[in-house]
Amino acid sequence: MTERAERVSETIARRGLILILSSPSGAGKTTLTRAIADDGGWGLDLSISVTTRARRPSEIAGRHYHFIEREAFDDLRARDEMLEWAEVHGNFYGTPRRPVEKVLGAGRDMIFDIDYQGTRQVRAKLADDVVTVFILPPSMAELRHRLERRAEDSPGTIEKRLANARVEIQRWTEYDYVIVNDDLQNAFDALRGILAAERLKRTRRTGLGSFVDGLLGEGQGGLI
Ligand code: 5GP
Repeated sequence: MTERAERVSETIARRGLILILSSPSGAGKTTLTRAIADDGGWGLDLSISVTTRARRPSEIAGRHYHFIEREAFDDLRARDEMLEWAEVHGNFYGTPRRPVEKVLGAGRDMIFDIDYQGTRQVRAKLADDVVTVFILPPSMAELRHRLERRAEDSPGTIEKRLANARVEIQRWTEYDYVIVNDDLQNAFDALRGILAAERLKRTRRTGLGSFVDGLLGEGQGGLI
């Protein structure tokens, strides 16, 4: 694309989209989510969930999650401050509504790392603007290996997550795209491809009609 064409296509208005990544624990979804959110060129805001789960040693409050007590979680729910919420592995997780409204209202895109229950709720509310991606591990053995290598959860927790993984994997048919994460760089490239294509979708590009009108109008006045 020439520099001019690139500039033109960037200025055509587009509705903000919601990119949801789901997968069983350990399939690499969190790494992928953060890699694309931290890659500034994509201009993606990351949704930071609230959770009642205990913080892992490597996690930073406010960056990975907002860690809150169960009462505070129930209060947010009662005040309708969550776009979606779910119980996962015995803990509660939810997406605060206001940051999402702010980002989408500004025509920007947001990325979510949430489970299939949350995905269903977000899709029910914001259908046209939701793009869903399911990340699969290359094998169950590799999934176990990754969970053990992470070594941040107790053996009991790891067994629970592996059992849950089988349930979660069966939701793969509910997603628009599926990536098998056998190589992080390949998976990242695939994710970038999905985002790039979805951003170009005609139905999302609200300003395209007037751009085309302008194109067709060029030279019609007899001046050129
Ligand atoms: P983890 O405890 O390993 O960080 O996350 C466990 C699971 O909860 C993951 O599948 C993750 O995607 C999901 N999760 C994290 N935040 C949310 C959220 O806000 N809503 C829902 N529905 N699931 C979440």
